[in-house]
Amino acid sequence: MALKVCKFGGTSMADGHTMTKVKKIVESDPDRRFVVVSAPGKRFSGDTKVTDLLYKCYAELMEHGDCKRAFADVRKRFEGIVRELNLNYDMTPVLDQTERRMDEERSEDFTASRGEYLAAVVMAQLLGAQFIDAEDVIFFDENGVFDDKKSYSAIASAVEGVKLAVFPGFYGRGADGKIKTFSRGGSDISGAIVARAVGASVYENWTDVSGFLACDPRIVDSPKRIKSLSYKELRELSYMGANVLHSESIFPVRKANIPIVIKNTFRPEDEGTSILPIAQYKPSGNIVTGIAGKKNFTVIFIEKSHMNSEVGFVRKVLSVLERYGVSVEHIPSGIDTMSVVIDSASVDNFKLEQILESIKAEVEPDFMRVSENIALIATVGHGMSSSVGTSARLFKALADAGVNVKMIDQGSSELNIIVAVKNEDMEKCIAAIYREFFGNN
Ligand code: ADP
Ligand code: ASP
Ligand code: MG
Repeated sequence: MALKVCKFGGTSMADGHTMTKVKKIVESDPDRRFVVVSAPGKRFSGDTKVTDLLYKCYAELMEHGDCKRAFADVRKRFEGIVRELNLNYDMTPVLDQTERRMDEERSEDFTASRGEYLAAVVMAQLLGAQFIDAEDVIFFDENGVFDDKKSYSAIASAVEGVKLAVFPGFYGRGADGKIKTFSRGGSDISGAIVARAVGASVYENWTDVSGFLACDPRIVDSPKRIKSLSYKELRELSYMGANVLHSESIFPVRKANIPIVIKNTFRPEDEGTSILPIAQYKPSGNIVTGIAGKKNFTVIFIEKSHMNSEVGFVRKVLSVLERYGVSVEHIPSGIDTMSVVIDSASVDNFKLEQILESIKAEVEPDFMRVSENIALIATVGHGMSSSVGTSARLFKALADAGVNVKMIDQGSSELNIIVAVKNEDMEKCIAAIYREFFGNN
């Protein structure tokens, strides 16, 4: 029998009205047995996500010793939801206990996790389902890394004999016994973990768009929907900024070949997007599958004659970054040049200066330059490897749009072409690539 795990994101959990839609979706298919929820998100533009209210609670807790004022907004959100749902359930004791535990724990991760916790408590009431706390079944090891074996076996035991259960997303428990969250948007990862642990036939990810779109709909108006994506394409696009799905969420499901389907809570009849193992994936016939971009990178450009014949050159440069604990995003290189792309948030000015000094001492380059405020744009698609002239079309489109390309990196898999531009050119660049490969829609 098919078994579906459904994750509902923040907009699907925003208020009583949207939670009623969630209930309808779950109840319309008996295979939908395990539900993972996010904290309530924005109800309208300008609204604040519950998770952001909770980060404010933590700031208030640190400043004043309690978070009464900030937590009052969280209370209001949940009390409002219970009222809208007409639930015969008194939230006050669980809200009081949550506030008390926040005061005791004084932990940012604990505080931030309570949006998912409370949302799952309410959703379990609404569905008449069992509540399974993520802190009892999702674990991290001493290094803060997700402990897959321990978690999968705990989830499998917790769901034994259970018909319908709700799990809070976003958090689990660390080796020190304390609550630990994934990075932002991490409920997608929790959903994938549950899907893997229960051996789901599909992982449904319900959100506020009708699938993975060819680019960010906030940049291009109504971009085309991607019918089917491979895990590899998904990884490239989500890592590079298509945050409709957290980039880490493919790992648990990929190993077990569980397809992911992205669906729209507000238009459940729409087909959505299927993300499939390469063996099951049917190429769309398009050269480009999708485009995504991310801002705020720093590029260190290094030039030295005969770099190519100097044994260990690249290793020496990279070892400097390793010493400073900075991870490298990309290393495009030429015969006498190489660039190292790093996330700007991983270095402050002082650290950057030290890194540059160390590189100078280590490899004595002829020339070195740093560019900051750089955006990377990835154009992704399996179709690009078999199609001649894709890069030429892409660069002509960017030249015609007046975008100055600072760096190019074509991945060795021929699955993507990455270009670096100034932060402020990112949107223009994505729109130009979209127009070139998808027309004006
Ligand atoms: P949820 O709260 O359901 O997890 P998110 O806000 O995390 O939802 O992700 C959905 C949003 O991702 C969409 O509303 C859209 O604005 C944004 N987005 C960015 N890139 C894409 C893309 N390529 N396709 C679809 N949505 C995208
Ligand atoms: N609520 C968390 C966030 O806002 C996690 C999630 O929604 O996936 O990042
Ligand atoms: Mg999300």
